[in-house]
Amino acid sequence: MMPYPLNLRLHSNEALETIARQIISQFDPSLLYKPAVIPVEDIMEKIYGLTIEFLYIRKNGRILGETVFEDAEIPIYEHRNDEGYKLIPVKAGTVIIDASLLHKGRIGRLRFTCAHELAHWVIDKNYFMELGETASLSTNSLDSEFACEFLDYDAFLHKTGKSKTKSNKAEAAKVVRSSETDEIIERQANRMASRILMPKCTLKATFHNTRTAPNAITTLAGLYGVSKQAMEIRLKELGLVH
Ligand SMILES: [Zn+2]
Repeated sequence: MMPYPLNLRLHSNEALETIARQIISQFDPSLLYKPAVIPVEDIMEKIYGLTIEFLYIRKNGRILGETVFEDAEIPIYEHRNDEGYKLIPVKAGTVIIDASLLHKGRIGRLRFTCAHELAHWVIDKNYFMELGETASLSTNSLDSEFACEFLDYDAFLHKTGKSKTKSNKAEAAKVVRSSETDEIIERQANRMASRILMPKCTLKATFHNTRTAPNAITTLAGLYGVSKQAMEIRLKELGLVH
């Protein structure tokens, strides 16, 4: 096994709960006392100074979100005229969310993607800065709804003949990259995202009040503004359902 990069920080589940609580209480501590749709986009913009932009990231819709840690040019699909990919300049602190998530019925996924990207910003910033790359969230199969992947610029940049900025840094960082590391980072961001959107303190109490109701999981998902699947995963994690 390759050693983990120095800047990759792994947190226990309890530590992630604490960080999630801190993120929420900086915005509004009362959100930790009753079930609520956590205003993740407001938290990103008002507390962390992030800029959220909606663009079609890939033609196939595989990448749902992308966080830009340093000013960069990134490939974006020109959806309107079907013109293919073009490089656009993006400022550090921009979170690009795939515009397909604005479509009806995708609000749960949209909010989860935002929370996932916020998690990268809060806990993985140093790691990605060292790597000289963006973090992106993608979906690539039915069984991995929240699966993520790192954006691979190489093929695209090779085609356009553009050279990579900060290439030395990226190349150096690549030495210690492995798909195993990527998976750990993505899973950690998902665990963090679910803690931001469904804080343990209110969810446990709310679960006990609603669990006997018909469609309890659907009700809970609605109360927190998440997908039913995300709620199910969170309740299992907390040992509340099996
Ligand atoms: Zn990610």
